[in-house]
Amino acid sequence: MSFSDMPVDVGPVYEGERIRGNQMYVELGGPKIDKKFELVRVNQKVEDGKVTIHGPDLKDMEQGSRYPIGIFVEVAGKELEEDLEAVFERRIHEFCNFVNGIMHLNQRYTNWMRVSIQAFEKGLNSFEMLGTILIRLFKAELPIIEKAQVTFYTDAKMIEEPHAMAMNIYNARDERARGLHDEDVDMFYGCVLCQSFAPTHACCITPDRTSLCGSINWFDARAAAKVDPKGPLFEVPPGECYNKEAGEFEGINEMIKKRSLGEIERIYLYSGMEYPHTSCGCFEAIDFYIPEIDGHGIIDRNHDGPAINGLPFSAMANQTGGGKQMAGFNGISIQYIGSPKYQQYDGGQATIVWMGKALKDRVAEFLPADLVDKIATEEDVQEINGLQAWLEEKKHPIIETDGYKAAVGGEEEEEEEYEGEGAMVPMGTQSFMIPGAGGAGGFKIILKNCKIHAESVIIKKIDSKPKRK
Ligand code: SF4
Repeated sequence: MSFSDMPVDVGPVYEGERIRGNQMYVELGGPKIDKKFELVRVNQKVEDGKVTIHGPDLKDMEQGSRYPIGIFVEVAGKELEEDLEAVFERRIHEFCNFVNGIMHLNQRYTNWMRVSIQAFEKGLNSFEMLGTILIRLFKAELPIIEKAQVTFYTDAKMIEEPHAMAMNIYNARDERARGLHDEDVDMFYGCVLCQSFAPTHACCITPDRTSLCGSINWFDARAAAKVDPKGPLFEVPPGECYNKEAGEFEGINEMIKKRSLGEIERIYLYSGMEYPHTSCGCFEAIDFYIPEIDGHGIIDRNHDGPAINGLPFSAMANQTGGGKQMAGFNGISIQYIGSPKYQQYDGGQATIVWMGKALKDRVAEFLPADLVDKIATEEDVQEINGLQAWLEEKKHPIIETDGYKAAVGGEEEEEEEYEGEGAMVPMGTQSFMIPGAGGAGGFKIILKNCKIHAESVIIKKIDSKPKRK
């Protein structure tokens, strides 16, 4: 496979390239654009190599502007089946990031791309080129695909119909997965596609825990592992269940230990507070602990503005991602919120006290009916100080828990692992780099199962310039 006819280089080395606002020629999709999507479908009637553009092409776009983006990839091949579509679709993220001068984030209906000024000036000025690159990569990296065609949508009107089709397909995939639970199957799956960004992260995909990115459910993972057992998606035999409530399995622990190169040893699938699942950076939503209430809040990627703890999604995402095991900040899929296993070890859905309004509306039908109206949104309470009164007025079940009473009353909890004062956060496994002389090499210190208690945090600017005598 050659890309010598392209004006920019293409290869895995460019994954992780960041294009900042002042470096971008145009932005495609992202949080400020209403409709965007990317979708893969099997269609045996595709015209191999065909690229179609509905809307302005790159060269017709105004520098510094934002446009909708729909990427519809259709693939053909004798062995292809519908269950593979979602797994192929997740590769759009990886393949776009192979292109020097393109940054791609997220997936499904939250995709967000930037094209750099430098790439545009080198000649990357048409979606025809990006489509051709995608087609070549799909066929080379996934030989089961024999033919492919790509259609781009960049016009706000023209994207409406395919966007609605894509949303229906995502919903149908999620609906199918909701009918199955972890106890119904004898095989789980893992995915390491995000290790290029988060080297210690591996997704554990079970019927109740759709992948963090929301793109790959248990059926999708099963199909991918079947056609390419040595690929990034693989089988994980659950083995012995050590703790049913927490969702601790022998096979999951072995998998994460191996895939994180020994950095992480245990995972509780159904806890955000003890041995939580790692988070890469592609999660659809963040489940965050609210110590003032001893409850949980959930903010999704599309939420505009701060959550009840005063932090926007982007600030919490920095804390959450990177393959860390971060108690109190968990990247999750939206589908997992509606699962009866949702953080059941920490108290389950009954601990959710705040959600972004749009997210709450979206998942309301999958939550206990008598809980929905008791979960606050940004329309009900704007500050953490008002949350307690609101929950008590609504008689949220959390107000009956010992954890809540201790949190709002300042009483000491009985559990040994918490102290009554200060903000002690169980941190799981943390690692720090200590650079050696000249900033090269150095040591890595791994603190396992540590708890960090800081009375104050002081941030000082280090002046690297030599002082004058
Ligand atoms: S978030 Fe998880 S399932 Fe999704 S691509 Fe990354 S590793 Fe795979």
